[in-house]
Amino acid sequence: MPLFADIVLPLAQPAYCFSVPEGAEGDALRVGDAVAVQFGPKNIYTGIVWRLHDERPNVKRLKPVGRRLYESPLLDERMRALWEWMADYYMCTLGEVMRMALPSLIKPQGGSAEEFSRDEYHLPVETYLQLSEPWNEQTLQAECDRIARRAPRRSEVLRQILQLHTQMPEGIPRRLVDCDSTQIAALRKAGYISTFSRERTLERDEERLFLLPTLTREQQRAADEIRSTQGVHLLRGVTGSGKTEVYMSLIGEVLARGGDVLMLVPEIALTSQLIERMERVFGSCVASYHSRITPQRRTATYLRLLHSSGGELVIGARSALFLPLRHLQLVVVDEEHDTSYKQSDTAPRYHGRDVAIVLASLYGASVVLGSATPSLESYANARWGKYGYSTLTERYGGAQPPRIIISDTMRSLRRGERRTHFNQVLVNSIAAALERGEQIMLFQNRRGFAPFVQCRGCGWTPRCPHCNVTLTEHRSSGRMECHYCGYTAAVPRSCPQCETADMKPMGFGTERAEEAIATLFPAARVARLDRDTTTSESAYRRIIRSFEAGETDILVGTQMITKGFDFGRVAVVGVLNADNLLYSPDFRASERAFALMTQVAGRAGRRQSEGVVIVQTSEPDNQVIGWVARGDYDAMARTELMDRHAFSYPPYARLVQLTLYSEDVQALRRATFALTERLREKFGRRVSGPVAPPIDRIRGEYILRLLLKIENGRSMARARELLREVLAQMQQQAEFKQIKVVIDVDPQ
Ligand code: ADP
Ligand code: ZN
Ligand code: ZN
Repeated sequence: MPLFADIVLPLAQPAYCFSVPEGAEGDALRVGDAVAVQFGPKNIYTGIVWRLHDERPNVKRLKPVGRRLYESPLLDERMRALWEWMADYYMCTLGEVMRMALPSLIKPQGGSAEEFSRDEYHLPVETYLQLSEPWNEQTLQAECDRIARRAPRRSEVLRQILQLHTQMPEGIPRRLVDCDSTQIAALRKAGYISTFSRERTLERDEERLFLLPTLTREQQRAADEIRSTQGVHLLRGVTGSGKTEVYMSLIGEVLARGGDVLMLVPEIALTSQLIERMERVFGSCVASYHSRITPQRRTATYLRLLHSSGGELVIGARSALFLPLRHLQLVVVDEEHDTSYKQSDTAPRYHGRDVAIVLASLYGASVVLGSATPSLESYANARWGKYGYSTLTERYGGAQPPRIIISDTMRSLRRGERRTHFNQVLVNSIAAALERGEQIMLFQNRRGFAPFVQCRGCGWTPRCPHCNVTLTEHRSSGRMECHYCGYTAAVPRSCPQCETADMKPMGFGTERAEEAIATLFPAARVARLDRDTTTSESAYRRIIRSFEAGETDILVGTQMITKGFDFGRVAVVGVLNADNLLYSPDFRASERAFALMTQVAGRAGRRQSEGVVIVQTSEPDNQVIGWVARGDYDAMARTELMDRHAFSYPPYARLVQLTLYSEDVQALRRATFALTERLREKFGRRVSGPVAPPIDRIRGEYILRLLLKIENGRSMARARELLREVLAQMQQQAEFKQIKVVIDVDPQ
């Protein structure tokens, strides 16, 4: 038996070595097991056994491994390989991967053994029934007949039990037997049955007859092409072309042969609409997994899947990647271009789509990436022949693509054709749609009432004391709010600079747009969908349901309204201010603006009636606006790829972004310049910066950035190694101690 175990703890630390106590033979530790271990003076953590070995480390006293928490290992070899890949590629520790990948309740932790136990998750316990000795099926059947006249009810309950017994000889869940507890007690007393309790394993009906949609010719062709691809396949389908139907057809095949499927969807597109649609076809095979699911259910799902014999369909956000789907054969990444697949705020800063591809290769599963506006990375991979590629060009059921009208805001203003935030053509279209009883969606990518307020006397604008941004006015709370740190303050009555009592809201967010549209159309029923109106799952659902049921006429919202909804009666979609999207210093700005507007536009006219999309902009000649108007993804891709190539940006290079933070701006500068110099010695021209990001102070910390560009064909692994060396050297130096460095590989 090995003497030592390297254990990964949910901390930003390397694995630590513990001693393996002598134990019962059958209870031997296995790699992948979850165990309780003491770490630090008094904390007990859940750890994962990563390696068992006999190499005594150079430490005086090793702590022993504590008890094992679950019967089976939580991770198999392939999942461990995925974690290792992530820690290496995204330059973080295995502990950080663990912290993110395992549901919170599966890994209790506490300051004492009692606290730890209190935190521990237990599967719900259920009572089961079994035939008692010496009864068997024949003798008990005879007994039923014998007592049928004298005790008809008892005989009937026994018959039920006998019938269930043939299907479940190892134990019949009590809840499946239709009788009350006195009868069970009586049967037990009479010696027919015995009861026992054990953890509830969720039984599922074994029905595997799926009512799959009949595919159109184009959909069928795409499905066939995907089937014949090994590895990754990109499916580009215009909005409303029925990508979901293609997925369903592929998913059905895999489930029918007992394979598992993982379908990833961006978090806020994980609507009840999509899940219900999948449940209607796949019934109890469907499990959903995302942040709005309770921690109990997430843990129960994880533990249930550990023992599954296959045929599972998990629909989830990026965190679903880490569920134990041991029979994984297919991974679908819907809306693969969506930026919310990237986890940016905490380590591991991973991209869900990219991890999905690695996961699938470890399991030998195939991958379908779907989008109306694929990321240029995926598109390039398809063009270069690394991925299979299919397109869907028609909307389902003969629905026409929406008509796109570009409306010049400046021109409308000059001609007196602008009513608050709406150009006349948009107002007219809304009026006509309301008249016909159709629905309208209005998109504005800022929440709140006004992005900033300004003194009319001197131009002063309130800013966040902790971040370098203006405060957004929110009318519902009557306060100004910082969208970066959450700081709030009352809107000042008068200006602290010049004492003029005239603070004017500038620009507009969703809240102001909602108010303005309600004033213009007082009879219309208006609702708003953004982070402020959807603080609870039920509020979110209410807004969606009400719009779906036609109880809301106009829905105003942020990005949230763009994601994958399939509402039948939306006739008009308005993009209230496209300018916001066009000007961003990001090299992906054009690609993003194109994708966002195309997705918003795609919500219009999804059934027979023609939809119209009105884009308000002061730059009607901007090329991005032109691509959107013509629905010309290929032109966008061609132009953007040329630029990316010229300046060595993805997909022609990989980026590693280093962000340095400190409250002391001088120390930050010194450290950043020192680091830049060291990096230049190793990477030369591949280092760009340092630059201050557009918002150069958040939560009181100043920020500077560096970018490494590793062109294709150069080894990323080698680059990471060099980077690790440089950072390790820098961290030895005193002046670096107070600097926080965040590494983001493939930043979005
Ligand atoms: P996408 O995801 O490509 O935007 P959807 O999958 O939401 O498109 O399809 C748009 C609409 O057309 C949905 O209401 C869907 O049910 C319907 N649809 C698409 N293909 C079929 C099909 N083969 N049979 C029946 N309905 C379909
Ligand atoms: Zn003033
Ligand atoms: Zn702030």
